[in-house]
Amino acid sequence: TDIKELLLSRIRDVPDYPEPGVVFKDITPLLADPAAFTALTGALAELSLRHGATKIVGLEARGFILGAPVAVRTGLGFIPVRKAGKLPGATLSQSYALEYGTAEIEVHAEDLSEGDRVMIIDDVLATGGTAEASAQLIRRAGARVAGAAVLMELGFLNGRGRVEAALDGAPLEALIQI
Ligand code: IMP
Repeated sequence: TDIKELLLSRIRDVPDYPEPGVVFKDITPLLADPAAFTALTGALAELSLRHGATKIVGLEARGFILGAPVAVRTGLGFIPVRKAGKLPGATLSQSYALEYGTAEIEVHAEDLSEGDRVMIIDDVLATGGTAEASAQLIRRAGARVAGAAVLMELGFLNGRGRVEAALDGAPLEALIQI
């Protein structure tokens, strides 16, 4: 469709970043284009409402850039899921495996409660580890996951299966498949 072509045309491939052999998908040209950025946040907002979200969770760092305007457009609250050690209040944390080593993400425990249905927003789904850990974190905070929505899914990394398992029947939406 037109919007997918617009979005795709504003994503830049950066070869050998952050390491040799990796082609990094850079969304900064999309963010700099008001028509594309508006179309993207509009599409993510529509998906969030369609799936019954009551809160928007953005994943550090590009999930903040996308999730905050989605929260404003939907009229829902925004909750940051951050890398460990950045949130000042009482947190829940979740570790997950990376290719080399582990990562840890956190959320303020008091930001989520039992009645909440959370939409997880990020830019890129790669191996799915970040989205999977986020869904686990949200459920451990007592909330339900309404779904996850990303701009782009890197299908060749096969992250979808593990994220869908963690979403427990809630939808995983990707505007663009690579
Ligand atoms: P995953 O946990 O392997 O799915 O990696 C997803 C996380 O890494 C997301 O938070 C993305 O922002 C980031 N990421 C992985 N690959 C890319 C890329 O090519 N472009 C931008 N972000 C990426």
